[in-house]
Amino acid sequence: MIVYTVDPIRKDVVAEHQPLLNDDQNDTLLFEKLEEYVLSHYPNPERVGCPSPEVLKRFSDTPREVKLSDLKDLHIFKCAECTRALMELRIQREQAKTP
Ligand SMILES: [Zn+2]
Repeated sequence: MIVYTVDPIRKDVVAEHQPLLNDDQNDTLLFEKLEEYVLSHYPNPERVGCPSPEVLKRFSDTPREVKLSDLKDLHIFKCAECTRALMELRIQREQAKTP
């Protein structure tokens, strides 16, 4: 989902050439690299300009229902704190799935 915004060209190429393949795996890998990059390059201990925790939670649960403006546009790609919060939410969600 996020990858579309970050690199629409690559995404289009993948979709064109592998219409039957589910490329979630690749998206996840790319996204993890991006997270690592944000965590090490964009510390934001003051949490300047961060969207509210409710918005982050909603983005984690139902990304399609959150507007880019609610997320303060591309803020999360330049904020280690929000990225960390989203990673924690994702871990919690994955743990909730496992019985
Ligand atoms: Zn933030």
